[in-house]
Amino acid sequence: MIRFDAVTKTYPDGTVAVNALTLEAATGETTVLVGPSGCGKTTSLRMVNRMVEPTSGRVWLDDRDTATIAPHRLRRGIGYVIQQAGLFPHKTVLDNIATVPVLTGHTRRQARSRALELLDLVGLPADLADRYPSQLSGGQQQRVGVARALAADPPVLLMDEPFSALDPVVREQLQNEFVRLQHDLGKTIVFVTHDIDEAIKLGDKVAVLATGGTLAQAGSPAELLSRPANPFVASFLGRDRGYRALTFAQASPLPLRDEATVRLGDPLTLARDRQTDGWVLVLDDHDAPQGWLAATTLTDSQATSTVTVELLNLGGTLATAHGTLREALDAALSSPSGRGVIVHENGQLAGTVTASHVLARVESRSARLHAVVLQPSAAGTTAPKAQP
Ligand code: ADP
Repeated sequence: MIRFDAVTKTYPDGTVAVNALTLEAATGETTVLVGPSGCGKTTSLRMVNRMVEPTSGRVWLDDRDTATIAPHRLRRGIGYVIQQAGLFPHKTVLDNIATVPVLTGHTRRQARSRALELLDLVGLPADLADRYPSQLSGGQQQRVGVARALAADPPVLLMDEPFSALDPVVREQLQNEFVRLQHDLGKTIVFVTHDIDEAIKLGDKVAVLATGGTLAQAGSPAELLSRPANPFVASFLGRDRGYRALTFAQASPLPLRDEATVRLGDPLTLARDRQTDGWVLVLDDHDAPQGWLAATTLTDSQATSTVTVELLNLGGTLATAHGTLREALDAALSSPSGRGVIVHENGQLAGTVTASHVLARVESRSARLHAVVLQPSAAGTTAPKAQP
């Protein structure tokens, strides 16, 4: 656990970079610091490993005040990843990763074999090991940066805009890999970004900082999206807030309806007979949905042939039964029949759902989330209080 306890940093020129920050980053979780440029994110991060010293307040690592731990000892347990990876240009990929284990007393041989494991862990082929950083793409360099930070297996990782310099496609790949890796490793991570979407995607907890180094709000992504504490946070979260919040709502108790189905290769006459409102859902031999067939538009001349892929309307995304309300709603809205197709984990059809059913769930859920009761406060005035 990392805890900022009323931490302030004033630089010698009088700039207040961080102002009375109190915040906890739980063990094994990803805590994201997000906010506009200059709001004190990097300064806060660097106070954790004492690259910057607080002017007042304390930063705790578990039950120890970091001010009482010598910086070099402290940093041994803290990996650090920065934008543009910060690799040593004159060292090979393998030696970049092996540097820290060698410094902490491992033999070169041990360090190099560990480095090869880490290359694999971050999704890089072993044949990159002998290249120099300038011979890698930006995304590959960033992966090496992560491997290097993990080399000493530190319990804590500090990551300062690690993906910001990458193009959007590579950035998304690395974000997805980050989620996968963190799921397996469970490090205590403090992650800095100016990108609210990245914060929402990666953070177990998101701390929004405002200019002047003050904490505007800290909470889970779902809490932020559903209940921003003030207009600054609301505007920083941006558009589609309500829709994006559905990412954090489970779809599993949605009532699913049975569909008329046929299989690829079935006679088209069967499709015509089965349709109830013009649409038939077509499955393959493993009951995996393939697309919708507009059965009422079939001509008589087609009626003697069979259901083929060419006849299918493939529009519409699939959602999984254990997915989110956002996926279910998107599946319904993008389906030509107006019904979202829901599948099990193995790809087999579970049933379908209409947008109105999803919205009914959204409404009952949001009624619960936003229910307020008026309770007299101690001062005798009434203040709204959210129900738990
Ligand atoms: P962020 O990471 O959110 O962009 P920083 O922590 O880098 O913000 O900076 C916060 C504020 O502190 C900014 O106004 C910045 O100009 C100022 N600052 C950062 N480092 C120094 C420094 N070494 N000396 C003086 N001011 C600094």
